[in-house]
Amino acid sequence: MELGFTPEEIAFRQEVRSFLRAALPEVYRRKLSEGRRLSKDELAHWTRILHAQGWAVPHWPVEWGGTGWDPVRQMIFRDEIQQFPAPETLSFGTSMVGPVVYTFGSRAQKARFLPRIARLDDWWCQGFSEPGAGSDLAALKTRAVRDGDHFVINGQKAWTTLAQHANWIFVLARTDSTAKKQQGISFLLVDMASPGVTVRPVETIDGGFEINEVFFDDVRVPADNLVGAENKGWDYAKFLLGNERNGQARVGLSKARARRIRELASASLNGAAPRLADPAFRRRLAGLEVEIKALEMTQLRVIAAERGEGQRQGEGKPNPASSILKIRGSELQQATTELLMDLIGPAALVRHADEGPDGYDFARGGASTYFNLRKLSIYGGSNEIQRTIIAKAILGL
Ligand SMILES: Cc1cc2nc3c(=O)[nH]c(=O)nc-3n(C[C@H](O)[C@H](O)[C@H](O)COP(=O)(O)OP(=O)(O)OC[C@H]3O[C@@H](n4cnc5c(N)ncnc54)[C@H](O)[C@@H]3O)c2cc1C
Repeated sequence: MELGFTPEEIAFRQEVRSFLRAALPEVYRRKLSEGRRLSKDELAHWTRILHAQGWAVPHWPVEWGGTGWDPVRQMIFRDEIQQFPAPETLSFGTSMVGPVVYTFGSRAQKARFLPRIARLDDWWCQGFSEPGAGSDLAALKTRAVRDGDHFVINGQKAWTTLAQHANWIFVLARTDSTAKKQQGISFLLVDMASPGVTVRPVETIDGGFEINEVFFDDVRVPADNLVGAENKGWDYAKFLLGNERNGQARVGLSKARARRIRELASASLNGAAPRLADPAFRRRLAGLEVEIKALEMTQLRVIAAERGEGQRQGEGKPNPASSILKIRGSELQQATTELLMDLIGPAALVRHADEGPDGYDFARGGASTYFNLRKLSIYGGSNEIQRTIIAKAILGL
């Protein structure tokens, strides 16, 4: 198995890096490296820059704006974006509903939605989880009842990330309550401006507002917005969740954070001795760097193995190895934020990126990122659930 990069792949990495240096506004890079979020307009601006370059949706079919890059180039591209750091495109559109639409949607849905997703003309959010349906997603209670050429939706979604910006939401709703629970679910595309949709924000532990509750009260949705076949939504949801998990290793982000820790630990912060002089700290950092490298190798092994056996994606079957990448990726992202918090020490009380006196730049965003990233082991299928998938699908237990 060949795990090294070819000269062409190394040149490609250089090309991506040069593009980012030339095209990404410095203010966006700085915001991201301080753990801040771009505004809606800023993300739309950056998505259009990528779109003009032809790189907004590299993993999509070429006919819908994809690049035709092989999986290694796609991995290199993601890695460079994350390390730079540059903004990633809105995953709800480009990695979740987009692939569902081009794989299972009607011709009219493809023509209507895909170009707008690629340019971030539409902001999508994900309406899967409910108060009583998270890990056990098929227990969802939101109902869609057919009424002529419409469905009428009633129910509540929970945890809906960035719904406050969204003008579209993809929803799993029960369309047959007599069938086995996985079989009576449909996948619907809902315009957030429809009468009866209400979004209520929820504050998270880091003091941010990124999640919401979304309520549906007699929301009428044209039957044309049903994706694929009625009652087959669970199949499309599994396909989507496999893709979601695949993107969660985010090795580039961990690499960038480890590099930042090394830089800060080499300096004297507020007159204290550099932390890198402390052998115990050095050991922890080196240990993390080795683990990150190992995850990168694992990611390459998964890609190499998939190449060998033909693409699983598109067949509707998530690769169970994506569970390993999700678990280790989330653990390492959390571990790097813990080490960063340890390094920052009491200065982490400068909680928000735009607070604090001069001289505390190094502390900005550290604590809010630490708290925010607790979510990684919960969403996209909690790490406990991923362990069960590995036990069943890989270990055969
Ligand atoms: C910040 C954040 C953003 C999110 N964004 C979205 C979004 O945009 N759209 C969306 O649809 N959803 C979103 N989610 C929801 C997310 O997918 C769920 O939180 C997740 O699936 C877990 O469900 P739950 O919160 O109901 O917890 P539960 O399922 O109640 O789980 C509680 C605990 O029990 C454990 N557990 C549950 N069942 C088992 C089992 N069978 N075996 C072992 N352990 C088990 C879990 O691992 C967890 O530790 C988001 C969540 C978070 C935290």
